[in-house]
Amino acid sequence: MSLPAELEALLRNRIRDVPDWPTAGVVFKDIAPLLADPVTFRAAIDALAELVRAEPVDKVAGIEARGFILGAPLAYACGVGFVPVRKAGKLPGDLVSASYSLEYGTATVEVQVDAFAAGDRILIVDDVLATGGTAAAAVDLVRRAGAEVVGFAVLIELEFLAGRDQLPDVPVHSLLQL
Ligand code: AMP
Repeated sequence: MSLPAELEALLRNRIRDVPDWPTAGVVFKDIAPLLADPVTFRAAIDALAELVRAEPVDKVAGIEARGFILGAPLAYACGVGFVPVRKAGKLPGDLVSASYSLEYGTATVEVQVDAFAAGDRILIVDDVLATGGTAAAAVDLVRRAGAEVVGFAVLIELEFLAGRDQLPDVPVHSLLQL
């Protein structure tokens, strides 16, 4: 989806580049200024909500941790439920897990087995799509928990890392391409 130029400029101005963080060579996209400004926070959630209006969903699944910050108000605004996709070891009860590769080593994300009803239509949300490993693991997790992934929505897509190539059969919606 393409944003009105004025809104795009507003959002871009509230994203801070932090060079060489958390490791050398990475430019961290810090969305704290965008979240702290009520105008841009609302604008970002409203723009993401437009996606949900175009594609009806039953639940929003947010990826820990910044996917919670965006996904929970998005679910609330759309009148649907929210499911946290959490890092390993945070959730009680019976879980579904998916592991994925990071630059060094692996990480695991989890949801509770009863998080979704069979066939639920799920929109997965995160703040940044980089290499796509996190998003692909979340898609795998939601599907193995018995639900259907109808889209992956992010505030920022780092196009040079080609993360959407890891999600060949999932519609990817990014508000900003940086
Ligand atoms: P990836 O699995 O490589 O697509 O990384 C995506 C996850 O890592 C998201 O949950 C982001 O919050 C975080 N992330 C990766 N790269 C960045 C970046 N340059 N700036 C901010 N967050 C990032």
